[in-house]
Amino acid sequence: MTMKFSNLGISKELESLLNKQRIEKPTDIQQRAIPIILKGKDVIAQAQTGTGKTLAFMLPILESINPENTNIQALVITPTRELAIQITKEVKKLISAKDVNILAAYGGQDVKKQLRKLKNNIHMVIATPGRLLDHIRRKSIDLKSVKMLVLDEADQMLEMGFLKDVEKIIHKTSKTRQTMSFSATMPKEIISLSSRYMNKPVKIHIKSKNVTLDKIKQVVIETTERQKQDALCNYIEENRPFMAIIFCRTKRRVKKLNGILKRHGYDSDELHGDLSQAKRNRAMKSFRDLKTQFLVATDVASRGLDIDGITHIFNYDITKDVEGYIHRIGRTGRAGETGVAVTFITPKDKNTLKTIEKGIKAKLERQNS
Ligand code: AMP
Repeated sequence: MTMKFSNLGISKELESLLNKQRIEKPTDIQQRAIPIILKGKDVIAQAQTGTGKTLAFMLPILESINPENTNIQALVITPTRELAIQITKEVKKLISAKDVNILAAYGGQDVKKQLRKLKNNIHMVIATPGRLLDHIRRKSIDLKSVKMLVLDEADQMLEMGFLKDVEKIIHKTSKTRQTMSFSATMPKEIISLSSRYMNKPVKIHIKSKNVTLDKIKQVVIETTERQKQDALCNYIEENRPFMAIIFCRTKRRVKKLNGILKRHGYDSDELHGDLSQAKRNRAMKSFRDLKTQFLVATDVASRGLDIDGITHIFNYDITKDVEGYIHRIGRTGRAGETGVAVTFITPKDKNTLKTIEKGIKAKLERQNS
């Protein structure tokens, strides 16, 4: 018998909405986490994006929310605005099964509009830490009745220096809440945070083999800093990627490379933290809608984002560690498609590449530029 969502305790209504999206068989993390979360237990899960972790916490949360109760019952904290938007989109596809109101609160949005919405009977908030603290300071949000709290991509929140903010937020929620943390890696700070704020958490570890990595062809192009631009343009000319994200190390390098690609006549755009939220949203929308073919980005775009049709990921600048590498290339090869990840390396990147190869336990195919 194949496993179904209803076998895990998910209602037929939600199951049928999932099936309409061709989501039929629960993934490993879903099979393990859903029954535990439904029982009300705290969970500390190590799982990467691409494993289906969003639904692993979202489905039991939707099951547990009481629409008649007009208080905020669930809170999901995410490190980036993009991830908050994406999770909100994913859950909105499911709320026709249940009358649940959701507020996405992230920086750059109109605060007044958010405040008006907050008066409106919100059951679930999906937010970045900064914006949430803003609302807490203005006393425009009351988290006392939050009984389910999710820290998504906890290790990235740590990396971005948000842990203190997250702790302040946790203190505003109910002491009897259920707490869940999802993280690709488990640095000691996250383990310590969990032991302070969780009650006998169940630990779930989904092996770091990312479900999507198998479907990604990974290639390394050896080049030099001076020749990188030409190497990229040559690759694009020869292989004609349908849709690609090109990752650079810094905002400056993103802006510069996007300018160059545009001058070459490519249909490209940029995404990084210096842009206003409206511009970031526009860039993402036009990429999703296939109006932009190449999105040049910093790591703002590497976590969690799930966009259909990305055929290529370019590491124009290599990442400094294996986790970052997996996150970036996991933007392709999603939901049953295949993808290509191309990493440009200069002589000074050789040791970093070795570390990455060790981390993913594979030697990558080399090509000369
Ligand atoms: P996540 O790891 O939450 O970022 O999810 C990655 C992608 O997998 C999203 O596009 C989900 O819609 C999709 N997904 C989640 N669960 C399943 C499933 N059980 N079967 C097929 N696709 C899924």
